[in-house]
Amino acid sequence: MNVEVICVGTELLLGEVLDTNSFYLAKILAAHGLNHYYRSVVGDNPQRMKGAIQTAFERGADVVIMCGGLGPTQDDLTKQVAAEYLGLTLSEDPLQRQLIEQKYARLSETKLPERIYVQAAFPPASQIFPNDNGTAPGCLMKNGEKSILVLPGPPKELELMVERYVWTCFAQWQNGAVYSRVFNCYGLGESVMESRLADIDLTQSPVTLAPYASEGTSRVRASVKASDEQQAQIALDNMQKQIEARIGEAIYSVGQKTLPEVVSTQLGAIRLGIIDTSESAQLFWQVQATVLAQQFAEHLTGPFQQLFEQLQVNTLPQLIQRFCHHFQLQGVVVFEMQQEQQDDCHYQISYYLASGIQQWQVQVQSLVPYHHQPERTVVKLAGAFWQHRN
Ligand code: AMP
Ligand code: MG
Repeated sequence: MNVEVICVGTELLLGEVLDTNSFYLAKILAAHGLNHYYRSVVGDNPQRMKGAIQTAFERGADVVIMCGGLGPTQDDLTKQVAAEYLGLTLSEDPLQRQLIEQKYARLSETKLPERIYVQAAFPPASQIFPNDNGTAPGCLMKNGEKSILVLPGPPKELELMVERYVWTCFAQWQNGAVYSRVFNCYGLGESVMESRLADIDLTQSPVTLAPYASEGTSRVRASVKASDEQQAQIALDNMQKQIEARIGEAIYSVGQKTLPEVVSTQLGAIRLGIIDTSESAQLFWQVQATVLAQQFAEHLTGPFQQLFEQLQVNTLPQLIQRFCHHFQLQGVVVFEMQQEQQDDCHYQISYYLASGIQQWQVQVQSLVPYHHQPERTVVKLAGAFWQHRN
């Protein structure tokens, strides 16, 4: 199967943004054994975009992957141009419209401009891929022998979409059943993971490895194409041993289990409290929305001085002891904002036992205010529990 990538965005041609999506897609396509002979970059210009698609099909592409230009602004035209090229028309998908409304509702309460709903329109019979890090879904549209896969431009949206959903298409394009196993890691960056796995001799194995990273966790997917499932599982077992020997201490699950799910099992019936020193108690509410909520029975919110007065204590250890005693808690997590500005935020998460003794502390730095990144915060909290599990 021949695949050609077209990155769309005038900013890429002006040298304002580095085209990292090409690099990412190239690695993934290679890992799936797909032929990737050409790629190109084109500005937000419908005529030239069509020309680039035409060229790609003429020089042998079976599938053209386009990334960028999926958003709601006037210059985001990729999906429309791709559909027009294939002679397809877009029509709004009611479920997608609803999902987009839900996502925007979380961000703002103002009425949405009609243009937003362009993101909910797709050609008939296209395969839609959810965008778990943004609003614009991706899609695979087809007409006859020609297929175009459109993906969002922001790397963290594109990568999560590929990792969670699109990769199954890549596996199918390989012709043949693909069996895979995912090793989920915490505390190991993608590049460190890659270098630790680098000495595995892949030439001696039918298995391919594809590393991914997102929201503070990283994972490596081992896949094998085989006609016989039993043989595939043996090859994966063998690869698992090699992977565990190199990064075993960082693996929190093999398969689907998320870090908060693993930590929740590990904590068992333990009852904890949260002290959130921010005004809105955002972090408490974020944790409440996850599987970890069952651990956190009680919360206190407000600046320390106010809490000290309220509970008639003078120090943080005393505050924790009183809080735990009153509610029969075994420990307390404290969220403390260090600094919040428009586009930068530092805070720390600490964990204390009921005795007031501190067990651990982690710093969190985020380029957007942390309450816009609930997933990252909860992963950091769960990660700290997991790393201190003994
Ligand atoms: P767009 O979907 O074209 O509106 O792009 C949204 C964001 O993704 C912009 O900040 C782009 O600069 C960024 N982006 C688009 N294409 C790429 C790419 N190929 N590599 C890295 N970033 C990109
Ligand atoms: Mg753009």
